[in-house]
Amino acid sequence: MVKALVVGSSIPEIREALGAVASVEEKVVLAYGKAAEDGSLEQLGVKVYKLKSTHPDHIVAAVEKIFNELKPEIIIGWITKNNRAALSYFAGKHDLPMPTDVTSLKIQADGLVYTRGFLSERATAKEKVPFPAVVLINQKAFKPVETSGQSEVIEITPEGEIVKLLEVKEKALSGINLEEAEIIVGVGRGFKKKEDLELAFNLAELLGAQVGASRPIAADYKWLPEDAWIGISGKRVSPKLYIAIGISGAPQHMAGVMNSKIIVAINKDKTAPIFKQADYGVVADLYQFLPVLINKLKERKK
Ligand SMILES: Cc1cc2nc3c(=O)[nH]c(=O)nc-3n(C[C@H](O)[C@H](O)[C@H](O)COP(=O)(O)OP(=O)(O)OC[C@H]3O[C@@H](n4cnc5c(N)ncnc54)[C@H](O)[C@@H]3O)c2cc1C
Repeated sequence: MVKALVVGSSIPEIREALGAVASVEEKVVLAYGKAAEDGSLEQLGVKVYKLKSTHPDHIVAAVEKIFNELKPEIIIGWITKNNRAALSYFAGKHDLPMPTDVTSLKIQADGLVYTRGFLSERATAKEKVPFPAVVLINQKAFKPVETSGQSEVIEITPEGEIVKLLEVKEKALSGINLEEAEIIVGVGRGFKKKEDLELAFNLAELLGAQVGASRPIAADYKWLPEDAWIGISGKRVSPKLYIAIGISGAPQHMAGVMNSKIIVAINKDKTAPIFKQADYGVVADLYQFLPVLINKLKERKK
């Protein structure tokens, strides 16, 4: 009988990872950080260990404890910073295979057949690893399970701290929820200064959209908080409509938006790579085009 340990810090993540191993007979969950405080843990209908910490050493110690007790063949979670840090250490220590960027899984009696993206999701590989294996899956690659039922919840005390935590500083977060957004206006380096982003926010308001950004805008210029950052090292989103404004279409950015239903690109350079991947393209200077578009939308709303 194959057993799986799902590791995650949010309920959507846990539901998706449970979906990825839906065919596995026995599943348990390690919910850490925010997920450990979430009341809906009680309704997952499986055995849940909760750990009120996000310290990778505590996660490793908790995974270790459950691994020794249950001997799961699969340890699985989303690709997040904490999962990467904790589970790669754990996999290295036990010399376990650790496929990442996994987008589909087939569980066989003697191992896992999976596909994973590489080259910023421009190519996929189909591979097989023996059990036990640690698997990091892409967000939104698997259908979340809609489990209901009473969970057995066991609290795990944080332990095993090797790295001492001296200070925790909250990141500036905007509270925007790009993962759930149906329309996203993406802003890139085509905007010349922070104040100009107001054009994008005006457009977003008229469309009922959220504003996301390419990495330079969030990480280098810090014009928007990090939770607006879209791409391979930011968030992967799947809106119905993605409007990329002043974004060149680098593979690392496009990997985050490839699940959008429709991509519209607005760029003044007709040779910008984004036009090869967009469903609709507008070759225009955003400073000329956006005010016109915003006015037209306002007129329509009257
Ligand atoms: C390991 C690694 C990970 C990375 N991860 C990410 C990631 O997660 N997300 C991400 O976004 N990037 C990521 N990057 C960076 C990525 O490679 C690109 O550098 C970045 O996406 C470029 O951002 P941009 O499109 O905003 O800027 P640029 O590439 O500079 O493009 C700006 C675009 O704006 C257009 N433009 C300029 N002025 C105007 C105007 N007035 N009107 C209209 N258009 C205009 C230009 O023609 C150009 O196409 C990563 C890079 C590495 C190496």
